[in-house]
Formats: sequence, structure tokens, C-alpha cells
Amino acid sequence: MIVRMRQGAGEEEISGVVRILAEGGAHVQRSGRGEVLISADGGTERPLAVLAALPGVASVEPGSRVPAGRGTRELELAPGVTVGGRELFLVAGPCSAEGEEMLHAVAAAVAASGGRGLRAGAYKPRTSPYAFQGLGEEGLWMLRRAADAHGLLVVSEILDAGQLPLMAEICDVLQVGARNMHNTVLLRELGTARLPVLLKRGMAATVEEWIGAAEYVAAHGNPRVLLCERGIRTFETATRNTMDISAIPLLLGRSPFPVLADPSHGTGRRELVAPMARAALAAGADGLLVEIHPEPDRALSDGAQSLDLDGYREMVSSLRRVAGAVDREVPEPAAPEPAGA
Ligand code: PEP
Ligand code: MN
Repeated sequence: MIVRMRQGAGEEEISGVVRILAEGGAHVQRSGRGEVLISADGGTERPLAVLAALPGVASVEPGSRVPAGRGTRELELAPGVTVGGRELFLVAGPCSAEGEEMLHAVAAAVAASGGRGLRAGAYKPRTSPYAFQGLGEEGLWMLRRAADAHGLLVVSEILDAGQLPLMAEICDVLQVGARNMHNTVLLRELGTARLPVLLKRGMAATVEEWIGAAEYVAAHGNPRVLLCERGIRTFETATRNTMDISAIPLLLGRSPFPVLADPSHGTGRRELVAPMARAALAAGADGLLVEIHPEPDRALSDGAQSLDLDGYREMVSSLRRVAGAVDREVPEPAAPEPAGA
């Protein structure tokens, strides 16, 4: 069952509920910030009404929406790189890996702003079959080299389970795009991967469906899942998607996974990216995924929503101020490797 505590419930109230459930032999797990959730698996069934009357409890639901032992808010992605803690996890890069030189320029800019991940697509799920489909394996190796030169992780989108062996060899984090969020065959396969999975929200997915997709990966053996809000389709046409900022605090209370935001696909418009990045951070996002390009107007995909490298630097410095107000930190750039090392 899931016990939802009231916003601002005290530590004594929370541990009181945990103790009662644990005394009944249940496996108990707590998650969430602000709104704390307690999940209990097994043990003696307690009448829901009795639990609902305990001090600090907002509601009690049967079933297990947050499976015990699956998923953690604070996640180590690689030695020394965590998401879900005090530090904001910044990932950026061009929509598509386009070439060696541009990836090096982007990676340098990401690292110089305290970013931890270089992200670009090598396999692109384009709307038109005639549009640029990505550089494939060659693009992945270019990403790897650029990321290694600047101490960054490689994040790239997987379209098909057949790509897993190669991508697991080259990448550090596998992105599942909006178009594949409902692909349970792929999600199950990713449950067997040793790499963390960055799961974007489907463009017409409810929060519950999205959490269900994350649980597919977790339930099949891989609890290292990050959720990424990237906007949903609505009647609004002024923006590419409608970025659902409310989903961020909602997920932080309802799921055990860290939550990122992608204001690039969330808006489709470069001038809206920095304001929505700041809003996402203020709403509790654990990280940001942003599209950047040395020459956005020449980008092979998603140029209209890509910041240039100076724009990205300015955005990150504005995030530093917001971070201070919400008790988060934008990491300082990693120290450059000594020459010749
Ligand atoms: C992307 O990240 O470039 C992408 C295709 O995103 P989404 O799946 O959110 O549309
Ligand atoms: Mn894109």
C-alpha cells in the first residue's frame, strides 16, 4: 500500500507510520521530498481506515504504486556523478551528433558551465523519413571522444533493443524518447541493461502512464531510471509542446525516480528555454537537458529550439541564482586535466 503524508508532516509522524507498518512485518520504503510517500509490501494487512487516521497521514491507497526497493531519487550515474542530490545535473548537446568538430566545441562549453553530460542523438526518430536520420555508430564514437576529452558522460537515444549491445559499450546513459515511452518491449529489454535510463515523457502520456513505463524498466531489473519532462501536446500551437511544470513536483512526490526537465522540446522556441529552465529548477527539477549548437541556424535538427554556446553559458549563470533560492547548487566546472595527463 501507499501512505501519502501531508505536506509538512513532521519527522515524528512519518517515523510513527513507518514503525507501525514495519511492526506488522511489511517491507517499508520512504520516498519523496515535501510530500513524503511510504510504501509497504507484505506483512500483516492493517485496515486502511486505521492507517488513514494516524497523525500526519493524508491518504492511504491499496496497491503498490512505488514498488519497494525499486528506484532511488539519488542515483550515482558514474563514479562521482550523481543526480537527485543537492547538485543540479546538467546535460546538454546538439539534437543530433553532426560531426567531430562541433561536438568538441559543444563538449567544451558544457564542461565549462559545470555540465556533467554530453547529449546528442546518433539514431534520430524523425517525423519524415527524408530528414536527417543521424550518423549512427560513427556518431556515437564521435560523442564518446568529445565527452572523454572533457570529462563528460555520453547520453544518447536508443530506438530499438537491437542497438543495446553497441550503445551499452559506448554510452553512459541511454535515453528513451517520447515516441518510445510506450514501447514496453524496449523498456523490458532496458531492464536488463547495466546503464541508467533517461525516460522522456510520451507526448500524450499521463503522469501515471509515464511512471508505469519507468516501473517496466525497474521491474525488469534496472532501477536506475531518470524521468524527463519534455512537454505534452495540447491545443496550444504557439509552442511546440506545452511544458508541464506541475508534473515535476508531482513526480517528486509520487515516484522514487529523479526528475529532469527538457525546456528545449518543452517549448520548441529558443527564447523560452532559459525562462522554463529556471522555472523547472524552482519547481524542484533534479537536472536539465538542453539542446545547444555552435550555429543553431545551421543545425540539422531542432535548430529553432537550440541555444548557441554563449546563450547556454548565460542560461547556466542565471540558474546559479535560482539554485541558491531553492537550496540547490549548480556544480562548478570540473578542474581541467593537467597538461600531458
Ligand atoms: C531529442 O531529445 O532530441 C528527442 C527526439 O526528444 P523527444 O523524444 O522528447 O521528442
Ligand atoms: Mn531534438
